[in-house]
Amino acid sequence: MIIAIDGPAASGKGTLARRLAAHFNLPHLDTGLLYRATARALLDHGSRLDDVEAAVRAARGLALLDFDEQRLRGREMGEAASVVAALPEVRAALIDMQRAFSARPSGAVLDGRDIGTVIAPGADVKIFVTASPEARAQRRALELRGRGEKVDYAAILEDIVKRDKRDSSRADAPLKPASDAHVLDTTDLNVEAAFAAAFKLVQSARA
Ligand code: C5P
Repeated sequence: MIIAIDGPAASGKGTLARRLAAHFNLPHLDTGLLYRATARALLDHGSRLDDVEAAVRAARGLALLDFDEQRLRGREMGEAASVVAALPEVRAALIDMQRAFSARPSGAVLDGRDIGTVIAPGADVKIFVTASPEARAQRRALELRGRGEKVDYAAILEDIVKRDKRDSSRADAPLKPASDAHVLDTTDLNVEAAFAAAFKLVQSARA
């Protein structure tokens, strides 16, 4: 079974994907990490984010097991990832790795922006997780506060709106629900309720 989870920044898709993967005992790939790691490698080498050749080299050189999530998770890296993710050459360099992961005999859960539309269009179940920008900014602020970080809600909201816009308006694989995706709006749902709704969608796809 292939489960495709897509959605905008801070929509909760990662949490849902991890929980579904654990529940159904499936391997999980957070594809955002691929773009974050590509951006990180460019910055570490002092390259510009719009240096297409360097970006493709970085994308091709990624090893799935090498990710230092601590260094990839921050706000700046999300923004940088979204810049390199708009380069069609970078997307092309990352496609085979993601398709191979989705085609594992065990099945798989992948989350990102284009899983249901480009990476695994034949997925058994596609969920597009969304929430209002304000709800997403609030969740991100809570999460950061929980980690003891200083929080600027307005800046977080601005980041989210900017990233949504860049991800949705790029020419190649823009963020949008696949025509056969179930849209799950979690604005008024807590984590448990969102998981219960996603679980129900997967169960009915399996039946
Ligand atoms: O999901 P996450 O916030 O880690 O993604 C970082 C950025 O990587 C996104 O804003 C998006 O531009 C890009 N991305 C993408 N396609 C994916 C996953 C992430 O373009 N499948």
